[in-house]
Amino acid sequence: MKNKNLQRYEQKLLKMQDRSREEISRMIQVVLDNDVSTGEHDSCVSESFDKELVLEHTEERMQEMVHDALARIDEGTYGTCLQCSHTIPQIRLNAIPFTPYCVKCEREHEK
Ligand SMILES: [Zn+2]
Repeated sequence: MKNKNLQRYEQKLLKMQDRSREEISRMIQVVLDNDVSTGEHDSCVSESFDKELVLEHTEERMQEMVHDALARIDEGTYGTCLQCSHTIPQIRLNAIPFTPYCVKCEREHEK
């Protein structure tokens, strides 16, 4: 990857690292609120009980991923899929700059 692009992603990631706590909380809150309003009534009690836990866990996970992505920039492996070693398309990195996988491997991971 060209240095100029790499710097751009690094800036983006550093910004995310700074703001992520607040932004992620807001993001997750929206997702969770949507879930509750459309979800089944049976699971409501346990859902609200787990909310804090989920929030904390996801925040931590995101921070980790951003941190790892910055480490990969240092190592010079940023933009390369951890699983299949193919180049991750820039359009994907623009959307999710901290992703360690290409779309194909991400899907396999989610299974
Ligand atoms: Zn891959």
